[in-house]
Amino acid sequence: MSDLIIETKNLTKSYGSFKALDGLDLNVPEGVVYGLLGKNGAGKTTTLRIFMSLLKPTGGIVKVLGHTPQKMPLSLRQQIGYSSDSMQLIPWLKVGDILNYNGSFYDNWDTQYVKQWVERLNLPLDKRVFHLSRGNRQKLALVMAIGHRPKLLILDEPAGGLDPAARKEFLESMIELIHESGTSIILSSHLLTDLERISDCIGIIDDGKMKVEMNLENLKMTTRQIKIITQNNIKDANLDGVISLETSGNMLKVIFNDWKENKYHNLKQRFPEATIEVESLNLEEIFLAYTR
Ligand code: ATP
Repeated sequence: MSDLIIETKNLTKSYGSFKALDGLDLNVPEGVVYGLLGKNGAGKTTTLRIFMSLLKPTGGIVKVLGHTPQKMPLSLRQQIGYSSDSMQLIPWLKVGDILNYNGSFYDNWDTQYVKQWVERLNLPLDKRVFHLSRGNRQKLALVMAIGHRPKLLILDEPAGGLDPAARKEFLESMIELIHESGTSIILSSHLLTDLERISDCIGIIDDGKMKVEMNLENLKMTTRQIKIITQNNIKDANLDGVISLETSGNMLKVIFNDWKENKYHNLKQRFPEATIEVESLNLEEIFLAYTR
């Protein structure tokens, strides 16, 4: 088996003539936290639902734990945890009952581990689901997703309803702890500063296609904003590796996706009279550059 825990090649999903996924290539190495980013409607939920076999792709290849999701043996399915913002929890059940009920589907449900998380997240065991706040419902869904100590955890927008303190507790502590115990995690989120803190790898999708997929450190190292300030007209700069280019006054602002030291020297040679400033970007700025 390859060291990829999830792999897709040319994955498509159409609704009539509309392509929600349009030839998506995505690779999640084993043992990483993978942040899946995309604007509203980019195809994140569709992708994650295909991994869970909740949706059938129209074409292409998808392997999760080395298997096509629809043909995955039950013993492997039990090694996956999933939580989604739109997941329906039985509203009249109490938190404790719903956890027991959920646990009954798994041979490997770890009651002690679940108890630890319930305490840590302050979940009220005797409250009914319909009396829980949105944030507590999300926490419950998360505990349901990890109680069997999955090898792979798939989280669709897991922290949207959480307040900043709960998000910090969940995203930084929980993800870190789960990850430390050997679980590979793929999560989609619009909370880019949070994702930047916890992700090893990033995939940015746009209109159902992978725009860029890379180790976060490399992504930040190779994506740079360069300001070329000159009195000369360089509108037709004809530069390679550009993801975004803007001119304002006597400044050309370029974001490159293949930044290396020698590129600076090349630019200096091409524009000897110009002042050249190199700026690093955070994940949010990189995301905006790729999806603008
Ligand atoms: P968001 O960040 O808003 O949750 P997303 O990246 O998760 O967005 P998806 O939910 O995967 O996006 O949707 C991708 C595209 O597919 C959207 O344009 C959506 O409207 C469309 N879509 C999803 N489900 C259906 C459906 N059942 N029928 C038709 N179109 C659909």
